[in-house]
Amino acid sequence: MPAAEPHKKVAPPRLALPVFVPDFMASASAQSANDSLHTALDNSVTKKDYSRRTMLAALPDADALRALAGNIKRHTLDHLDYYLELLEKNVVAHGGQVHFAADSQQANDLVIAIARRSSSHLIVKSKSMVSEEMELNHALEAAGLEVVETDLGEFILQVDQSHPSHLVMPVIHMRAMEIGKVFAAHFKVPYTDDPPTLAEMARVYLRNRFNEADMGISGVNYAIAETGSVCICTNEGNGRMCTTRPRIHVAIMGMEKVIPAMEDLPVFLKLLARSASGQTLTQYTNIITGPKRPDEHDGPEEFHLIIMDNGRSRILAGDYRDTLRCIRCGACLNACPIYRKVGGHTYGSIYPGPIGALITPLFNGLAKHKHLPHASSLCGACYEACPVKINIPEMLILMRRDQVRMGIASRAERWFFDLWTWGLRHRWSYRWGQVVQRLVLRRLPAKDQWIAKLPGPVAGWTRVRDFPRPPRHDFRYLWKEHQAAKQATSGRGATP
Ligand code: SF4
Repeated sequence: MPAAEPHKKVAPPRLALPVFVPDFMASASAQSANDSLHTALDNSVTKKDYSRRTMLAALPDADALRALAGNIKRHTLDHLDYYLELLEKNVVAHGGQVHFAADSQQANDLVIAIARRSSSHLIVKSKSMVSEEMELNHALEAAGLEVVETDLGEFILQVDQSHPSHLVMPVIHMRAMEIGKVFAAHFKVPYTDDPPTLAEMARVYLRNRFNEADMGISGVNYAIAETGSVCICTNEGNGRMCTTRPRIHVAIMGMEKVIPAMEDLPVFLKLLARSASGQTLTQYTNIITGPKRPDEHDGPEEFHLIIMDNGRSRILAGDYRDTLRCIRCGACLNACPIYRKVGGHTYGSIYPGPIGALITPLFNGLAKHKHLPHASSLCGACYEACPVKINIPEMLILMRRDQVRMGIASRAERWFFDLWTWGLRHRWSYRWGQVVQRLVLRRLPAKDQWIAKLPGPVAGWTRVRDFPRPPRHDFRYLWKEHQAAKQATSGRGATP
């Protein structure tokens, strides 16, 4: 390898995920006070979480089904090379073409090359998180191609030039009045916030774009290795229009989306819609195997499957392999008390919520997202909600451990926790710690047993919440008193 020229600056490595809010703490503070966001989230996320619980409770075997789904994913990841090769072989056998991309840059280049070779100019796209990961729209537009999002939520975001804030409900942070303003400016029509009218505006516009499009791009919910098929789950007809109307269909997937066989698919279909939106099944469940056959009337002339790595091999080889089991249902977001308070944009990447707090640092590096492993109360709601039983709290703790090992935590924080650990290891230091804590804290002004302002380095705690005043006596003292009183009573009652 040639030595780097010392006078030339080396460009920093490209992040695997786009980052759009670099300062977690500033955004979290702002969004915690954003009542409009809380109203929007309460109206949707909380209800979806309730529907998920109800729908799963109605299944006779929900927990066994979740365990089975998790095991299928674990097995597939253990044999990923085998299943990816099988998938490739069967896609090709049905007339499709398979392309492997090491990173998002390569994946974008592949889509652009397919568009140029097929003389495609207008591209319609259905919702796909992996395409967000690649910043595909920017790459296509930079290459002079026109791309139109056709999922209603994604279309609103494209018009508004903003980012999704949820895995399955991308525009959940916006209310109808905000969408009305965006549409009025874009379509040059009078303002309305009537949802059916807004949806009709988008529908009429998109219908024409479907008819004119040369190429359709979709994501992939599941790729079935045994048959070479891709399964795409949507709640709007746009996914079906994108994959059948244009001449070319390009499906893009992260490499962890493969499952072994068709018989595995119902396990995931049963869980996905219930977990994501409290439905029994998504409105449209499409299984696509290759391009149109000679005797078929509808469908694309070419079918391309792009399988992207973009850092997944690295994750597969490490402690966080289980994160690759994620089926992007969004249930952990809906269940998370932190997500409900700060919304999706605060997490800074296209993957928000508890799973985003894990995978964003995995993709982009822990040093760049040092607050994310701490964006959790570790209450376990995400683990309980996850249909493939990913133990998110456990991995967040692992990640905090990695932060300490890597020296990412501040020196003050490391000293503080070293002292804490030492104190907890010895009985006498633990007890003296309690005495000192009581002495100091009980001298501070308190109202109804709550301290409103802590001093010095712990002042941050009371900036947004109160701290409980410690009781006059600790548990040991009270226990001793209780035992003494008991003995005294039993002594009085005893017959001499
Ligand atoms: S981690 Fe689990 S609950 Fe969260 S999006 Fe992934 S599959 Fe759904």
